Amino acid sequence: MNIAGAHRSRRLLTGALIALYAAASVLCGEAFARARYVFLFIGDGMGAAQRNAAELYLAGMREALGDDSARESQLVMNSFPSNGMIRTDSLSGVTDSAAAGTALATGRKTVNGAVAMNPSSGEKFRSVARAAKDRGMKVGIVTSAFLQDATPAAFFGHSRRRTEYRSLGIQLSESGFDYFAGGWLPDSRAGGKDGTNPLAAAALGGYEVTRTAGEFRALTPGSGKVRVLSIHPKTSGGYMPWAIDGDDAGVSLADFVDKGICLLDGEGGFFMMVEGGKIDIACHANDAAAAVGEVMAFDRAVGRAVAFYRSRPGETLIVVTSDHETGGMTHDASGGAPLFYRALSTQKGSYSAFERTVSPNGYAKFGGALARARAFFGPGVGDTKETRAAHALSMTPKDLRGAKGDEYKKLYATYDPFTAACLREFNASVGITWTTFYHTGKDIPVSAIGAGAERFSGEYENTEICRKIMEAMSD
Ligand SMILES: [Zn+2]
Repeated sequence: MNIAGAHRSRRLLTGALIALYAAASVLCGEAFARARYVFLFIGDGMGAAQRNAAELYLAGMREALGDDSARESQLVMNSFPSNGMIRTDSLSGVTDSAAAGTALATGRKTVNGAVAMNPSSGEKFRSVARAAKDRGMKVGIVTSAFLQDATPAAFFGHSRRRTEYRSLGIQLSESGFDYFAGGWLPDSRAGGKDGTNPLAAAALGGYEVTRTAGEFRALTPGSGKVRVLSIHPKTSGGYMPWAIDGDDAGVSLADFVDKGICLLDGEGGFFMMVEGGKIDIACHANDAAAAVGEVMAFDRAVGRAVAFYRSRPGETLIVVTSDHETGGMTHDASGGAPLFYRALSTQKGSYSAFERTVSPNGYAKFGGALARARAFFGPGVGDTKETRAAHALSMTPKDLRGAKGDEYKKLYATYDPFTAACLREFNASVGITWTTFYHTGKDIPVSAIGAGAERFSGEYENTEICRKIMEAMSD
């Protein structure tokens, strides 16, 4: 499957959004209603360009179907009435997800690598999720990454280094939060059932742990223990599968959100953080089609929150933002590229699916390798000096490639050279270029709808998101 297969439900949403605009404009007059049901969506690595790329892709697909509304807003999150921008720098400069997650979760700046604390003084910062729990609200933490990854961890844990997965996993099990859903819990294989293994500790700590799609679907309020920890049935490297690879074992990020709503809904209200964790991973690899697939999967999850919002518009707040931009994604018309990104639909899967296949077996000759790359990505992959040089490197044993050289790192970072070069050419042929394999310091859009949404307009520091949500929950 490719991303084309993943946008069936969009049409329904457009009609619904028109109704939503009407509802929202009424609500804007009702300033300072208290938000009892709060959703914070964080698209990791998702800047304005990533959101626009998904929108342009969807517009292209609809235009191809002869749909004359193709230029209307296509993403649920892009149609919210209140919009702002956040600055994302951490105390280290360009932020990583740990410092940015800390800012969003706790309203405090820290250095890169630290999770919800000042690593020098040892001061721990209290998160908005903890504050919600202390107010008697239920709390859900959902991610397509692994559960102790920096962004979700900043909401339930504290650590000097983001890689302290065992400690963060134990803190998860001790958090008392009501619903966790995401990829794997690293460091859970080693160790026994003595409380030092995060998964065992969660089970001992009163969590109903689900590992299969069947167990997940069977969850209802009161069906098991009070608290729930759902591990995605099909993780890869700790993450949920790529949306573009089309095999999520029947459990999507949107399904995780739906289940969260079902389990958390109640008199006391809830706070749910939902991270689209693989937008960042796709953008690190400069894979635009995979990034678009992840943004759309994330937006479908936002759509589930909007469905809930419609049932409780005066008491629900939905905020969509990101921790930072990744890749320096740019929409580039220098090659006369088409306005809409329909051409991305020829890509058959994620960069990692292609990368896994690149080996001297079947790829030894450049001609054959290029044919495979064109079949996988699209006709935009050219027979150029760059693809030939990258192919030669990919066919060279890893320790002989000179991978530590500056020029090599600039061209390929840690990725397979041939995959990186093919992606670069394919993306450029569509009209997308990248400036880096790392994070950038770009400002990030914020979109909000519902109770207190008007607070989120304007330009401000990422730390303000936490404060604004706290205020909205308190009114
Ligand atoms: Zn990143």
